[in-house]
Parts: sequence; C-alpha cells; structure tokens
Amino acid sequence: MFFMKTCAFRIPDGSLIKTGLFYTDDMTNSLCHDMKPCQRLFCTLCQAKNDSDSASCTTIEFSTSGQKHRFVNGYEAVLNCPANCQTNNIIYVLTCACGEYDYIGSTRYSLNEVIEYHRQHVNRLIIEYLLNGEPFPVLCTCTENEIEKRRANKKRLYQHITHCTKALQLFLEYNPQYWSFVPMKVIDAQYDDLSYRNISDVIRKEDSIKIENNYLARIPKPPPGYTFSQRQQDAQREFFENFHPQHYQFYLTLDFYRATIVAVLPLQCSTILRHLIEILFVTHAETKLNCFNLFTGSTDLLYGLPYSQGRIWCENLLSPSVARFFPSNDTTTFIKTEK
Ligand SMILES: [Zn+2]
Ligand SMILES: [Zn+2]
Repeated sequence: MFFMKTCAFRIPDGSLIKTGLFYTDDMTNSLCHDMKPCQRLFCTLCQAKNDSDSASCTTIEFSTSGQKHRFVNGYEAVLNCPANCQTNNIIYVLTCACGEYDYIGSTRYSLNEVIEYHRQHVNRLIIEYLLNGEPFPVLCTCTENEIEKRRANKKRLYQHITHCTKALQLFLEYNPQYWSFVPMKVIDAQYDDLSYRNISDVIRKEDSIKIENNYLARIPKPPPGYTFSQRQQDAQREFFENFHPQHYQFYLTLDFYRATIVAVLPLQCSTILRHLIEILFVTHAETKLNCFNLFTGSTDLLYGLPYSQGRIWCENLLSPSVARFFPSNDTTTFIKTEK
C-alpha cells in the first residue's frame, strides 16, 4: 500500500507528523480519512449521488469509514487526507464501467472540474468514432481548443472508452439518436426492413451530394455479417441534415467510469512533484490506460492496445429495435417492449 507523509500538511493537528518518510502500520490502521460529498448546491458529482432519477451516470466512490481504493490489479491505496469533490491538488483514479481497465490522473484542480474535462472529450470522441471511425479532422477554429483536442485524441483512456462495449451501451442508452450508426446483423436488418416504409421528405439534390461526400461516405463500414438497415440509412441522412460538427448533442452529465481520489497533495506542491507521485501510483497499480509508467515509455509495448482486438465492436450492443424482434434472456439494460 502507498502511504504519504504529506497528508499532515492539510491536517491542522500537527501531532500526526512523526519522523520518517512513511507511515507505520499502526498509524495507518488508526488514521482513516474519507472522501465525502461536498454538499454544494451546484456540484454535479454530489447531485449524481443524491438524485437517482437524473440522467447522470457519474459514480463517485464516496466513503464513510476510511477510504481505501483497490485498483484493477489488486493494489490498494489508502486516502492520506480528508477529501471531497472540491479538494484541489489531487491524484485520482477512473475505473471504466467494464471494470477491467483503470486510469490514474493528477490535477491541481478538483475532481469536480477534472471530471467535466473528461466528460467533454470522451463524449465527443465516442460520437466521432461512431460517425467517422476516428477523431474528426480539424474543425474547431479556436487554436487553444484544437491543441487540447489533439492531445486528448491520443489518450489511451479515451481510446478504451470509445471501444468498450459497456461504455458504448451506456452512451447509446442516453443518446438513442446514435443507434442508427451501430450496424445490425444482416438478418436483423432484414427484419427491420420488413416493417419499414420510408416517409422522409425528399431533400434537395445539392444538399444530398454534400451530405453524401462529407458525412455518409465517412461512416465506418459495417464489419462482415453486419449492415445498416434502410431505416438506419435514412436516419443517418436525416441526422446529417441538421448536423454541425462543432455542436455535438450529448448528455452533459454522462460518465463512463467510477471515480475517486486516492491521494491529496500539499497545497504548495509543485507540478513536477505531483507528476512524480502520480507516476509512482501508475507504476504500482499497473494501470493499462496511462500512456507510460516507470517500467516503460510506451504502455502499448507493455499492455498492447487499450481495448481487446479481434472482436466485432458492435456485436454485443443490443439496440431497442432489435430487442423488439428478439425477446431473449440477455443481460442488457433495455426493457424490451412486446409488440
Ligand atoms: Zn460535491
Ligand atoms: Zn471499459
């Protein structure tokens, strides 16, 4: 387990400071710090916890009897200092909804702010992968955003989430307008075509050509054995008629991971010290979604791609329309409607 003496900087009671760099076992057992909700009115992380009806899927690991986080590889970290959603200068961890991949980050801001950052990029990238098979080429006119976007596009964290069945299922549940970009099994598409009659208006020819070249041609080709039904193809065309790449539509409170704080750093902690402690955590917890650790400058070499390969990406995504045709005992979250 990883213990940090630095916690004493944030605790008024100076008696906690003992000589030596690390806590002793008995100190660890007696010192319990919690990660608590901040209870502020407009905190989206606290609201997600309180309001189970909201569209938010943010899952924060709050605690009441001492915060101890267990990483995917089994390594444990005991929180070194009391914390809440607004605590600045932190090391935090995101565990994907699939439970198989985790990521450690650090920030001089709070968890609340950093989650917002991840939310923007991950939702943007899921949409870009669905519509385009890769991040959209430069579209934004603001250079500052563009640099940040390009940096984000390379993150293993987002590369995993954009390919993770659990995360995609969650995204589609809250953004059903994107189901038309998820190919169906050929047989399902044939069923879908049986009950479909195109009633959409005919659009002008030049618009049609523009949509065809700019967008429809760029939609990733369905894998072998999969296709888009006629209903989906018409929905795609309709979608792009009103599409503005700079203004994606998605739930602003939707996340795809559990999040918590694993360490709090001193307020005056330098950026370099923060990164040093972060990389110690990354190395011990062997997080597959960080880009490097002390073993390697490239996590690709150590763990391979941040998602499983050789798998058909859409095979386990169950759309509401397919569920209608095949009421079965699968385990997806959709409630199937009887026809
Ligand atoms: Zn809060
Ligand atoms: Zn995942």
